[in-house]
Amino acid sequence: MEIDYKLHGLEQFHLKMYDDFLYDPLSIPDLIDFFEKAETDGIELQAISSYRGFEQQLTIWNNKATGNRTLLDSQSNPLEFSTLTEKEIVDAILRWSALPGFSRHHWGTDFDVIDAKVLKDNPEYEVQLIPSEYEQNGIFQNLGTWLEENLPSSPFFRPYSKDLGGVAPEAWHLSHKASSYVYEQKLSFEYFNTVISSDFYNTLHLIQIVRENAEIIFEKYVDNISR
Ligand SMILES: [Zn+2]
Repeated sequence: MEIDYKLHGLEQFHLKMYDDFLYDPLSIPDLIDFFEKAETDGIELQAISSYRGFEQQLTIWNNKATGNRTLLDSQSNPLEFSTLTEKEIVDAILRWSALPGFSRHHWGTDFDVIDAKVLKDNPEYEVQLIPSEYEQNGIFQNLGTWLEENLPSSPFFRPYSKDLGGVAPEAWHLSHKASSYVYEQKLSFEYFNTVISSDFYNTLHLIQIVRENAEIIFEKYVDNISR
């Protein structure tokens, strides 16, 4: 099976710049409309992360897999790295960060949003991207409510809106339906296995654990989204 570089953040020539980030060109007209609609409703929608390349995701992964970046449990509480088995480390990373090559952020179709107006009023605040920020009494509560009301009739959806036992709920993570669907269709377990067996993964920490648990990782964390 041939590896499609566009799927894994290994190629970006096909993407276009919008508002400081690279996106799949198909998503840009809808992005413009959606951000304008938010502005009309008093929300200053801003992407704080969009396209991410393989190398960038690999750095995140390796920092977490070696204990250089804090791992969180399902309730967003820090985990004590030294007490975890290698398998537990892999599971803890996957709950919050995608396996390099299999982040939806590699497609230019998915992005994380905040309300920039709220940050202007709270300049000291450091965004964490945790569920409580978007829930009742959270700093982005209004944005959370706005998304709840406006996403269903928009060209976007939240692939991690519910806890399906894999990736933790991410109220901030939006995906452009039409363009992301094109990438999603190419993901099968057979293809996943081919990609993670490739040389791109030679520098991924704990790769042997990932390869040994390939099937469950694919089912739980890759092929497991809310619609
Ligand atoms: Zn995201």
